[in-house]
Amino acid sequence: MSMVGLELTFDNSYARLPDRFYARIRPTPVADPRLLKLNAGLAGELGLDAAALGTAEGVGVLAGNVVPARAEPIAMAYAGHQFGNFVPQLGDGRAILLGEVVDREGVRRDIQLKGSGPTPYSRRGDGRAALGPVLREYIVAEAMAALGIPTTRALAAVATGERVLREGYLPGAVLTRVASSHVRVGTFQYFAARGDEEGVRQLADYVIARHYPQAAAAPRPYVDLLEAVVARQAALVAQWMLVGFIHGVMNTDNMSIVGETIDYGPCAFMDFYHPATVYSSIDHAGRYAYGNQPRIAQWNLARLAETLLPLLADEQQEAVEVAEAAIAAFAGRFQAAYATGLARKLGLSQAQPQDAELVRQLLDHMAEAGADFTLAFRRLADASAGGEGSESGFMELFPGAEPIAEWVRRWRARLSLEPDGASARQAAMRAVNPAFIPRNHLVEEAIEAAVGRGDLAPFERLVDVLARPYDERPQDQELSLPPRPEQIVAQTFCGT
Ligand code: AMP
Ligand code: MG
Repeated sequence: MSMVGLELTFDNSYARLPDRFYARIRPTPVADPRLLKLNAGLAGELGLDAAALGTAEGVGVLAGNVVPARAEPIAMAYAGHQFGNFVPQLGDGRAILLGEVVDREGVRRDIQLKGSGPTPYSRRGDGRAALGPVLREYIVAEAMAALGIPTTRALAAVATGERVLREGYLPGAVLTRVASSHVRVGTFQYFAARGDEEGVRQLADYVIARHYPQAAAAPRPYVDLLEAVVARQAALVAQWMLVGFIHGVMNTDNMSIVGETIDYGPCAFMDFYHPATVYSSIDHAGRYAYGNQPRIAQWNLARLAETLLPLLADEQQEAVEVAEAAIAAFAGRFQAAYATGLARKLGLSQAQPQDAELVRQLLDHMAEAGADFTLAFRRLADASAGGEGSESGFMELFPGAEPIAEWVRRWRARLSLEPDGASARQAAMRAVNPAFIPRNHLVEEAIEAAVGRGDLAPFERLVDVLARPYDERPQDQELSLPPRPEQIVAQTFCGT
């Protein structure tokens, strides 16, 4: 049997941490595993043998029925603030970390099964996942990766041949998730909440060694760690905002310590631009609305900083000051990344004082007109190389066109100050303004076809198109369009 890749490359650093960091638990076998999707490209990056993963034994591994020789399956312990309320013990309730592999770039990555059966952290849950949310995570995680946004990845989706009980009975599935790390802000909170300062220190040392090695050489390694995590999260949330991504459940247990997008539950890409947009069915107060995400990220980072206080300085007062400075730096970092990104979306490469105002006016017009966020920027790119009149596609998105026509004139005047030629600028704009995003209605259609009719074709097509989101693909143009009124998906669900 040639499961060479999986067997030979596991090296499980997290499982070498003290026992109280996790529970050793094997996946619960499923009745009838069937491979629905294998990410051959990602398998290749990981140095895994895609053909071997597709065999009966490989699918057995991806389903949790076969535990490879050098895997050391564990469920990780963590805590977290859920919608602002602290829960001292959450943990992997439906996920099991098989182990770590070192990828072709030398980066150590976790291989985790999600939906692989109960663990000591399952509480009342069944430890399983339904097919719909598994396909959703597959589609969106891979779309994020293709957009160039740090994210956990999807290596495979396997049907279990079992049913799970949710609002009714649904087909079950297991997702193989790949992450640079599954350590979360909530992992630090787990130890801090127990007064386990030694645990916090061991975790911080682990995270520095694995993810932030430069911090080890800094004069104050833990301060450097905090600052580096803040920087990565600020950059990440700016990227979300620039593509209209709404995470939906930015609880501290869903915030990765390495700055990858993690836990695709009720996430959504915004169609019609408005900062207050919320899709999640459980986010009644709009805590995790599109426009709140930077503030929430900063709040979550403050919770991380609290856990690190004993490590930041000998004197409590000094530690608090250091932590506050590190957290305060989030705002400037986020703003800089967001403003630069928005300017690029408009084709502005050399910052000018008036740019912020130009950007703000466009966003205001978009909010007022309910213009489609993605399409507006893409059509602006279309218009950028042409002369007067080439903006008709863009203008269509703003009914009652006079104020936007005035804006387009100001934008063109501003473009004339740019050094690049029109075609280079258009290419640059297309490279930051995707044509294809995982729109809610498309994701829902793909899931409905798979769950309702066992038809994976729409899922396959969507995954394929989203793998090259910045390409011009006229033959797939309908997948770039916003939903028609009857297609609008108003709510998304956690799917736990
Ligand atoms: P999430 O909403 O996915 O971030 O999960 C929050 C917590 O609930 C985590 O501790 C999960 O492991 C746990 N959880 C979610 N769904 C299930 C399930 N079906 N069975 C057991 N635990 C679950
Ligand atoms: Mg979670």
